[in-house]
Amino acid sequence: MRHLVNNNLKLLNCILFIPQLLLAGHVVDGTNYTVKNDTIFLKIQDINVYPCKKGNNTLKLSATNHSDEKLIFAVHIQSNIRSYSSVGRGWGTVFYDTIPSGREKRIEHSFPFYSNLNDGITLRLQFYQLRKSDEWDFQKYFYTKTYDHHEIADLFSEGKSFIQPPNVDIVDEFKRIQNLLRNEYFTNVWNCFTKSYQEAQYQGDIRGFKGKINKNQAIDYWNAEQFLNLIPQEYFKLGDGRILLNLTFDSIPWSIYFKYSDDQWKIDWVDGFTTLVLLWMTWPERLLPQMQKVSTEHFDFYYDKDSYAEKTIKDIVETREDGYEKICNYLDLETNQRISTVFFSDLTTKAFETGHRGKGAAFDTTVIEVYNEEIQAHPYHETVHILTNSIGFPPAIFIEGLAEYMEIVLSGKDSTELSETLDKKIIELKNTADWIPIKKLITFTDIPGPSQAHVSYPEAAAFVKLLIEKYGKQKFIETYKSLINSDVESIFIENINKLETIYNKSLDILIEEFHKNYLQ
Ligand SMILES: [Zn+2]
Repeated sequence: MRHLVNNNLKLLNCILFIPQLLLAGHVVDGTNYTVKNDTIFLKIQDINVYPCKKGNNTLKLSATNHSDEKLIFAVHIQSNIRSYSSVGRGWGTVFYDTIPSGREKRIEHSFPFYSNLNDGITLRLQFYQLRKSDEWDFQKYFYTKTYDHHEIADLFSEGKSFIQPPNVDIVDEFKRIQNLLRNEYFTNVWNCFTKSYQEAQYQGDIRGFKGKINKNQAIDYWNAEQFLNLIPQEYFKLGDGRILLNLTFDSIPWSIYFKYSDDQWKIDWVDGFTTLVLLWMTWPERLLPQMQKVSTEHFDFYYDKDSYAEKTIKDIVETREDGYEKICNYLDLETNQRISTVFFSDLTTKAFETGHRGKGAAFDTTVIEVYNEEIQAHPYHETVHILTNSIGFPPAIFIEGLAEYMEIVLSGKDSTELSETLDKKIIELKNTADWIPIKKLITFTDIPGPSQAHVSYPEAAAFVKLLIEKYGKQKFIETYKSLINSDVESIFIENINKLETIYNKSLDILIEEFHKNYLQ
């Protein structure tokens, strides 16, 4: 009895002083359950079953009647215990409340949990709008909400009295966590995350967290350096009971969501490092002024001081200018298009700074490439992309196929060897499960896109090789000009028609010819 009094007093305090926390914690689901249906006029809000315990529990919510007539709001509550049998053993009943037109009603109903938490408790709520209570049909709910075992565990306060989250200074709390990290108490930091954050971000594995936290340049994860340099700004209590702390890192806004869980305010989400995307949008303005630059007839080359690119810049200039001229000659292009080529010293830096993964990429008239002793993008590939932009934008097999095939054509004395290497690769790949039928590859708007690069690039190159070497450049250029890169089916069908007209052969026959080249 004394407990009950204490609990009521606490509750009273909360109502008087921090009402938003009463509606909250892991306490309340503050979503508006607006059902997009012309015939449903009931709006449900603030569904709350916290705290859950063995024995009697309370469902609280509010329902508003937006119709011109009185309506009956019904809720069917089903609490189940899974471990008793595969179908579970449960308790279920339906409750009715009449709500006058235009009115909101606070609704409370009790339901039991017959078991302790360990037994796999679940809860299901189904909501109904009725005009008469005898209209009730179990199947015809307009909204349902279920709590699985884990969600119920979050709400369970077994053996504890009803404790409201204390009104803490979340900035202090954040600084405490920063200190734990600064002193490398990784387990303690880990324990400052909610279970759902641990699972969502690190598959629930502290080793995953430790691995990510010390990476210099984390792309999908934040790292220790960023976290330690976050500067708290202001915080807000959210309708769902969490606290949102706004921070800045290098004047970029970050957000950390705290949730009260296991008697502690814990980090439930970290947001902001994803604004790397913002950084990525500005990389040319940020990086280029600090880099070394060499300008030639058609190129502006950018590279870091003391990088491998700087050491070999003479060769680079020669190869690229030579390639430029050869590409124009080969494709009969008359252009003076300038190209900016930016060299990054490694894959990680390039991905971190620009958001692009892989050895090389071309955007408009800018090329970014990794360039070091071990990794170098093909010297002509991206140039081909930029120079052929003005010809057309056909399906990816033609774009990537041409860029890859040009590498072979333009490589001079090695070209026979490279061509043979490609043929060998195709023969190998044809017999693997990874092989993509040409008929499918020709529909791709992007390569690699959904495919594996080690398969789709050589396949595209080999198909373009067949078209050019068997039917000549002119027909291929015509194809390049007239086919359109699109995932719209009608355009795709049109593409095939155009291709078949240009080559005066069905696609099936062309594919047959392709395969004949690679019979063993
Ligand atoms: Zn490419």
